[in-house]
Amino acid sequence: MYNSTLTRKTPLRAKTALKAKTSLKCYTTLRANKSLRQCSIDKYKAGESNNVSPRAAGAKKKTQRPYKPKYPYESIFTTDLKRCFITGCTDGYVDGEYHRIHIHHIFGASNKANSEKYHFLIPLRDDYHEMTPYSIHKNRDFELTIKRFCQEYWLFCYGTKEDFIDTFGKWW
Ligand SMILES: [Zn+2]
Repeated sequence: MYNSTLTRKTPLRAKTALKAKTSLKCYTTLRANKSLRQCSIDKYKAGESNNVSPRAAGAKKKTQRPYKPKYPYESIFTTDLKRCFITGCTDGYVDGEYHRIHIHHIFGASNKANSEKYHFLIPLRDDYHEMTPYSIHKNRDFELTIKRFCQEYWLFCYGTKEDFIDTFGKWW
């Protein structure tokens, strides 16, 4: 026989649904809308209307190839590209340290080929070229002196200031 007194020792409690203490939120990681590669291509296209492949549009290959000269090297400063224009040194030891002669492009970056074309190159011993505070890559006065000399040379031999700006994009 069914005995109701045995059924429950504790009184019934109202059940509530299981609840998280804080509401669930969907988290996503921060993400750029566009890849870096796409950004650089868009940037390029916004600036210029040339029809170019993505690679030509500034998307660099992972491994950069060594720079290939566009013109044979010649310098308005000297005919001897193996001798530093400042020190007169060639490749060799100076005070027990071996130094090489580097060819510096006076107008670098996008003007590298222009520097070659107009012979705005200068042979420098490696310490006068880069890394040291007195090198042409670090010493702004040195850099500007050489750049301005080239501009004077341009005015003398090649054309006007406007022609120079048309070619190099800037007057220093
Ligand atoms: Zn250089």
